[in-house]
Amino acid sequence: MTKPLTGCLNEIFNRLLTHFGELHWWPAESPFEVVVGAILTQNTAWRNVERVIAALKDEAPLTVDNLLRMDRQRLEELIRPSGFFRQKAERLQLFSAYLRGRYVGDLGAMLRGPLQQVRDELLLCKGVGPETADSILLYAGDRPSFVVDAYTRRLFDRLGLLQGKESYDQIRQMFMTHLPHNSGLFNEYHALIVEQCKRYCRTKPLCCDCPLQCDCAAYLRGDYP
Ligand code: SF4
Repeated sequence: MTKPLTGCLNEIFNRLLTHFGELHWWPAESPFEVVVGAILTQNTAWRNVERVIAALKDEAPLTVDNLLRMDRQRLEELIRPSGFFRQKAERLQLFSAYLRGRYVGDLGAMLRGPLQQVRDELLLCKGVGPETADSILLYAGDRPSFVVDAYTRRLFDRLGLLQGKESYDQIRQMFMTHLPHNSGLFNEYHALIVEQCKRYCRTKPLCCDCPLQCDCAAYLRGDYP
């Protein structure tokens, strides 16, 4: 793409939106469920997280206090299908304890401060890296913080808008600099990237029906005949 970056990013968004329609992420019944899902989804497929969240809800309503009250071994047992279950159980209870101690369990109160300050605070919580922090901000807090994941990196590398060595923050900055800070837009954009990468831009891409084919540097170079 030879257009200015803002135009490229808008055009990619519009093509994906036309192709897939609105996707309305994140699939959760409450902001706290988003936090739980964002921690559980680290290093595992979403289908495993869905199973685990259903099991947690069968045990008790998914609240800060119920997670804190739950016996650690029982929690580990319930979240086992999401992998790294000991680590994740500790992280869930540490995050819940922090929320209870500092914000009387009110996630909304934690997430409504100045964006950068809240992001920094989230990053200080054990087990919350940039992708988890941005997912919590965007999907639990409705704050405009762009989420970058492996799909984002893969797609924008192939499209020719990344060189392949950018850090998480550099990629996030590309979106934050060139798009309006609108949580609805960021929400939909990330969901569309995930859908595009599941349907077409897979590890072995299915380029022939891809809605981004005519603007894709890798495809136009003949990388994926
Ligand atoms: S044309 Fe192929 S490589 Fe390019 S974005 Fe589409 S699926 Fe990915």
